[in-house]
Amino acid sequence: MAREKQKESSFAGKVVLVTGAAGGIGRAAAVAFGRAGACVVVADTSVDGGHATAAMIVENGGKALFVQCNVTRAAEVEALIDKTVAYYGRLDCAFNNAGIEEEHLPLAEADEALFDRIMNVNVKGTWLCMKYEIRQMLKQGGGTIVNTASVAGLVGAPTQSIYAASKHAVVGMTKTAAAEYAREGIRINSVCPGVVNTPMMGRALEREPLREKKLRNVHPMGRFAEPVEIANAAMWLCSDQSSFVTGHQLAVDGGLTAI
Ligand code: NAD
Repeated sequence: MAREKQKESSFAGKVVLVTGAAGGIGRAAAVAFGRAGACVVVADTSVDGGHATAAMIVENGGKALFVQCNVTRAAEVEALIDKTVAYYGRLDCAFNNAGIEEEHLPLAEADEALFDRIMNVNVKGTWLCMKYEIRQMLKQGGGTIVNTASVAGLVGAPTQSIYAASKHAVVGMTKTAAAEYAREGIRINSVCPGVVNTPMMGRALEREPLREKKLRNVHPMGRFAEPVEIANAAMWLCSDQSSFVTGHQLAVDGGLTAI
């Protein structure tokens, strides 16, 4: 089936950074970029998962470097970009995908610590990654950045008010940075997935198994996405195929936001 196939657009010789690449969407993207010929940097807090993703890329004949990085820490993000450039010489594309969810409560029941945790990873982490990636891309004269937002960055998400706020912030940063750097040859876009079959979704459904059918049904296509379907969209936004697309939020949601 088409959705199980990798989109093999050519990234030969391009240096591509993927955060949150130890599993889920990030791993699917890192492997797909590797298959398409990219020199991949796999970044994540998880050492075992990160090494496993890098090994998958190498087994497929690709090039990969794993760098442990917590995207909420400026020094670690700066070091991530430095290591990328020291190892491969440049940074052409970045997929800022690391994110957490952890929230299944009405707004008035959530606490401050949860707010800080989600905002820290999803908003500050994405902002820090863009900041250091853009500095490098300005030196080189261009590049492409894709941030993972969510349908929760486009519409409300009951019981996930903090997560929705964080993903709306990702959309706001994407639009703003896209306008700021459009004339410097840097294109910046977001992917906005519906529900995707990943470890994150597995954890959420373990907590509330009865939600699964309802969640499937909010997608007109009647199913969840596979991680590679989000990876394919991110690859298109990173590639020259989307050369006049910037500041765009690409819903990859089986029709969820169409109704
Ligand atoms: P996942 O939990 O399966 O993978 C996320 C990865 O990010 C993990 O490997 C984790 O270790 C890493 N990570 C978490 N915090 C980090 C940090 N501070 N620094 C570096 N790495 C960190 O999740 P996923 O479903 O693959 O989600 C990936 C992205 O897609 C997230 O931004 C998520 O919000 C978004 N998203 C997911 C869904 C879904 O249904 N799964 C839907 C819409 C958007």
